[in-house]
Amino acid sequence: MKKESIEVLFTADEISRNLDTLARQIENDYLGQELVMVSVLTGSMMFVSDLARKIDNNKVDVRIDIISASSYGLGTESGDRVNINLDTREHLKGRNVMVVEDIVDTGKTLNFITYLLKYHQPSSVKICALLNKPSRRDPALKDLKIDYLAFPSIEDYFVVGYGLDCAQKYRNLPYVGILSFEE
Ligand code: 5GP
Repeated sequence: MKKESIEVLFTADEISRNLDTLARQIENDYLGQELVMVSVLTGSMMFVSDLARKIDNNKVDVRIDIISASSYGLGTESGDRVNINLDTREHLKGRNVMVVEDIVDTGKTLNFITYLLKYHQPSSVKICALLNKPSRRDPALKDLKIDYLAFPSIEDYFVVGYGLDCAQKYRNLPYVGILSFEE
């Protein structure tokens, strides 16, 4: 049986520091405005809850909504189809929307979600991601713009922790680590 091992990529302290920087940037960009942060479940749970709590409510009027999409099955390979399992509840028409995603891989999930959200005629739609793997991007989506990114782009690792899973395991790790399989 293959044994799983995890090597720390970003510690809890590094995550917290980078989220502070991101929060200041968001406060600056949305100063005096309302912002609906749409968390893409389940992977962005930790990210959105920590990031939203770092944003000063006296500066930005933050709301949180959720959407659930899945493109991965139980393993580590992205599928071709994106399934939307749960849609947003807020009325998004005329409002600033920020889609909050754990990691951008092929980009198909975010591309599909932003396409869906634009149907609600928000005044703006921005993308915020914890991690980015540009080497995995679908060629048709190479111009996909990530407006807010917590960490510089990473190599083609399969990462877990801080919301990210492998077959639903490891989401509760306080850090992001590279998962590998040993004989
Ligand atoms: P995309 O549609 O961009 O190919 O895939 C995005 C989704 O795939 C992410 O929201 C995440 O759930 C999953 N994913 C992509 N790369 C990884 C990874 O390295 N680790 C984990 N745990 N999930 C990933």
